[in-house]
Amino acid sequence: MKDLKKAHFETIAIHAGQSPDPSTGAIMTPIYQTSTYVQKSPGVHQGYEYARSQNPTRTALEENLAAMEGAKWGFCFASGCAAMTATIGTLRAGDHVLVCDDVYGGTYRLFSKVFSKFGVEFSFVDLTQTENLEKHWKKTTKLLWLETPTNPLLKILDIQKLSELSHARSALVLVDNTFCSPYLQQPLQLGADLVLHSTTKYLGGHSDVVGGFVGTSNDEVAQAIRFNQNSMGGVPAPLDCFLALRGTKTLAVRMDRHCENAQKIAEFLAGHCQVEKVIYPGLKNHLQYEIASRQMKNFGGMISFVVKGGLAKAKAVLENVKIFSLAESLGGVESLIEHPAIMTHASVPAENRKKLGIVDGLIRISVGIENEIDLVEDLKMALQ
Ligand code: PLP
Repeated sequence: MKDLKKAHFETIAIHAGQSPDPSTGAIMTPIYQTSTYVQKSPGVHQGYEYARSQNPTRTALEENLAAMEGAKWGFCFASGCAAMTATIGTLRAGDHVLVCDDVYGGTYRLFSKVFSKFGVEFSFVDLTQTENLEKHWKKTTKLLWLETPTNPLLKILDIQKLSELSHARSALVLVDNTFCSPYLQQPLQLGADLVLHSTTKYLGGHSDVVGGFVGTSNDEVAQAIRFNQNSMGGVPAPLDCFLALRGTKTLAVRMDRHCENAQKIAEFLAGHCQVEKVIYPGLKNHLQYEIASRQMKNFGGMISFVVKGGLAKAKAVLENVKIFSLAESLGGVESLIEHPAIMTHASVPAENRKKLGIVDGLIRISVGIENEIDLVEDLKMALQ
């Protein structure tokens, strides 16, 4: 294993968790496609017993992602939702979780439709107003669940301040860091206790794998998550771990290009007569621009905007793009465009969507790493 103590992010992304295969010297971590491991004598093995519990390709990815997030421990899952399931599964009936209001629709669905049945309580609150934390805090609050930037309205939450407020009340803080990736934001360094990813997005980076990750430096929390990873069984396949590992090697260069392209597209949209509003943390008129500048290295590849003319106009744009693909998901090399109210956030009840501002004219784009001139031209043509 290379000595990475003084290494920078890009070097860690390529080398952490990875050493040449001991049996062949293969530089890439092999896909250990096995369900079990031979033991020399009962209980005498090389750290691997059964592939739900441990797999070397998964170990390499877990160490790689943990190193990028500055976490002592990392755990990989079959999807971001499986990562959330194992995490909330550490709580008990009667525990309360304070959640930022504008979370991914699937997060809202998992919490409100599945875990609430088992007695875990959730409140969804606008945490851009930090005083709301105090207002909605309960004696039973055990976890603060943040997503920043939020999805799809790209609100920025102050991780450091909210972590301090929660720690003062003896609760843990989790940040879903999917929209940023560890290259742009490292929640544990800002005071959070757990960091979560849908590795399906920027970490995988090529829209060819579904996966999830939880990282923490808290030994007790790590033990509980490891227990659930094995007990609940939502583990990733070795091939999927290999694909995610291949993705993380180019994360830094991809993120730079995502951000560069997104900034230019956000500025183009902001000056377009058919566009009512552009939400991008890198625009100076973004309500939390100052917090974003402080806690993020750059402003990311996600943009939301509202077109003039409501649903009809939004549909026309979505149907007429030629380079952007009309699809859910985000974070891949190719640009995607979607309609949150009908697609990613359909599971959020209509009245909640209205309250949040997920209006019919709202479009969300995941800016890829194609040539920025082609992307601007595509949107210009579709908006006309
Ligand atoms: N968190 C965020 C912010 C997401 O956008 C998503 C999916 O879009 C998830 C979690 C869930 O991840 P997965 O689709 O890998 O289960």
